[in-house]
Amino acid sequence: VTILAIESSCDETAAAVVRDGREVLSNIISSQIALHTVYGGVVPEIASRKHVEKINYCVREALSQADLTLEDIDAIAVTYGPGLVGALLVGVSEAKALSFATGIPLIGVHHIEGHISANYIENKDLEPPFVCLVVSGGHSHLVVVKDYGVYDIIGQTRDDAAGEAFDKVARAIGLGYPGGPKIDKAARDGDENAISFPTAKIADAEYDFSFSGLKSAVLNYINIKRMQGEDFNKNDLAASFQKAVVDVLTEHAIRAALQYGCDKLAIAGGVASNTGLRQSLEKACKDNNIKFYRPSPVLCTDNAAMIGAAGYYEYMKGERADLSLNAVPNLPLGDRERRFHGRSS
Ligand code: ATP
Ligand code: MG
Ligand code: FE
Repeated sequence: VTILAIESSCDETAAAVVRDGREVLSNIISSQIALHTVYGGVVPEIASRKHVEKINYCVREALSQADLTLEDIDAIAVTYGPGLVGALLVGVSEAKALSFATGIPLIGVHHIEGHISANYIENKDLEPPFVCLVVSGGHSHLVVVKDYGVYDIIGQTRDDAAGEAFDKVARAIGLGYPGGPKIDKAARDGDENAISFPTAKIADAEYDFSFSGLKSAVLNYINIKRMQGEDFNKNDLAASFQKAVVDVLTEHAIRAALQYGCDKLAIAGGVASNTGLRQSLEKACKDNNIKFYRPSPVLCTDNAAMIGAAGYYEYMKGERADLSLNAVPNLPLGDRERRFHGRSS
């Protein structure tokens, strides 16, 4: 089964061709990062316009690099949520137009389901059930993947997402956007034990996260230093902040895997490309006899190959969308029935 996948939920325009869910024939990503850097974050209207400019090129290039034409494609999978509505609409419209013109079946894919499914691409042996830590720009979820496309959310953030915390702290230190990779790099030259930041524990929900308190602690630290006219070491600050995030993510993920009796732990989303997090989980998994799965960095951040992987399993289950498929900015993960496949009725 050969799937053409399209992704445009945020600031990456992407198209890919994926065979049988796990073999990537092409993976085209047109990133808008440079465009949004001047504003310190993603500007939705600019993102939508850029998607419109790039989408046809990405689709053409994905087919051409796979050495295929639309006639070879069995299904078109597209992200229909969650994400920025104007950005999502570009991909959804493209996919619907292609499906309408060719009769190729259409499949609506949940963006986070895509992030999770990125793990299938390079780990041919990975099958559910497993625990997945999803840490991206907008989400921090601990998920039990019970089967393909069947998710149990056991923990989530109460406030900021992990990636959001990275981005906000990076902005405060003056490292720029996007913050994750910049903090990751700075942290390598810093002392992670230089500053001790609090990590929040939520008493009544043992797998939930909270990052806004940590973010405030970092901002307070910077403000106090500035008021006192003192300098601070950016690298030490980045390393100490990153350690606080990594520690809590590692602790929650390992505890979940052990308590749910899963000997497999996967990570997903942009923050999953963080060097510190990967090292920490690698070690903790080894210590606890858990097999650790992580996508290559390029498959952690937004891409369409992961949408092709998720779309494949939907396709095999017989899931099909029709031309009423619409962008759903706050699409929930998990219960497929409640999602109406993006249909309005
Ligand atoms: P979502 O997937 O929740 O809709 P998104 O698509 O914007 O949000 P992703 O593309 O999955 O998010 O990830 C982007 C986020 O990952 C940004 O917040 C970015 O700072 C963070 N990130 C990327 N690389 C790293 C890294 N090396 N270390 C930490 N964070 C990182
Ligand atoms: Mg992005
Ligand atoms: Fe994402």
